[in-house]
Amino acid sequence: MNQIELLAPAGNLEKAKIAILYGADAVYIGGKQFSLRSRASNFTKEDMVELVKFANDHDAKVHVTVNLLPHDEDLSGLTEYLQTLDEIGVHAIIVASPAIMKLAKKLQCRFEIHVSTQHSSTNSKAARFWKDQGMDRVVLGRECTLEEVRLICEKNILPIEVFIHGGMCISYSGRCVLSNHMTLRDANRGGCAQSCRWKYHLMDEEIELSDPEDLFSMSSKDLQAVRYIEKLIQYGVASLKIEGRMKSAYYLATVVSSYRYLIDRIMEKGYASDEEIEKTEREIRKAENRPTGPGFYEGIPNEKVQLYVDHDEIVTQEYVASVLDYDPFTKEAKLQVKNHFLPNRVMEIFGPHIESVSVKVGKIYDENGIEVEVCNKPMQIVYTKWDGPIEKDAMIRKVGN
Ligand code: SF4
Repeated sequence: MNQIELLAPAGNLEKAKIAILYGADAVYIGGKQFSLRSRASNFTKEDMVELVKFANDHDAKVHVTVNLLPHDEDLSGLTEYLQTLDEIGVHAIIVASPAIMKLAKKLQCRFEIHVSTQHSSTNSKAARFWKDQGMDRVVLGRECTLEEVRLICEKNILPIEVFIHGGMCISYSGRCVLSNHMTLRDANRGGCAQSCRWKYHLMDEEIELSDPEDLFSMSSKDLQAVRYIEKLIQYGVASLKIEGRMKSAYYLATVVSSYRYLIDRIMEKGYASDEEIEKTEREIRKAENRPTGPGFYEGIPNEKVQLYVDHDEIVTQEYVASVLDYDPFTKEAKLQVKNHFLPNRVMEIFGPHIESVSVKVGKIYDENGIEVEVCNKPMQIVYTKWDGPIEKDAMIRKVGN
């Protein structure tokens, strides 16, 4: 089977490390400039240096989004920025603007140049075009069907990256100015306010068609491609990409480790069993999430893939603590509280090397050794004796969600 990259998003250094620890082969991040999620990106130069070292130590890669569509006023400082990324040793940049592609080539930077999904590359001729321009990889438009992905990969023109999970634009990615009109924030310059997900009163003249209690939204369900991973690997896709640089570390750990599990099963024996696929879907549902669908993989999405009545993103309270440290001799675990939970309950733990398993959590103590009856202070440091699988960076959640 072909080597395949699992590529995860990360909005900050902590999330990037979590994604790598939980099984991502590469992470994509944005600096404070030139990125479409500039509001989600807080990577300083120092953070990037640390992340590249961490990634190299873990045999992983760092891709940096430089994917805004710049106007002339946005180009200032771009040369220095690309040279800095090159010095830092990032492995690839993801680019939408031909001006930035050309500049990166001219500067002879060592990183690869990947063509952003903002280009809506949906056919093999487009892939050929980008190859001829000296690009190293194309991120296909999310609007490709599975069959179209197969046909493009079959031509073996250059490495192909596809999205497998996360938010979708209701318009063609990168060809939407809804946010510009509604908020004066340019979606193609890092400012998308996700106006498609807002709730609207749907009017026909004076008559309101929407239910005032359940207003109309224009968004689509999120993509979830668990059932297509085997085929995507067989087609020869180079990279499977998860969307969501604004998502939490818990979401990333859950989604990344779930796809890691599935990909590893497929790479081991050439396929995933129904049981393994169902287990992956079950695990992914434990992350905070929106309703999901197949995106365009089955063909043009029908009304079942739309979210006309959009409910707020479910922010789960099931993630209750992270493991900061563990002493195998004293069996004492140092935890950081994330959400409300009660001691002396059965919980579920999962970690970089631990699949989800239920464990009874015993008494909890604060830093002064005083027993805590209710853990309800987010970020509080607490301690407990742990009898079961555990490791640093593992996460604890309530069972039965
Ligand atoms: S408003 Fe919605 S459809 Fe438009 S760019 Fe933003 S997320 Fe995409």
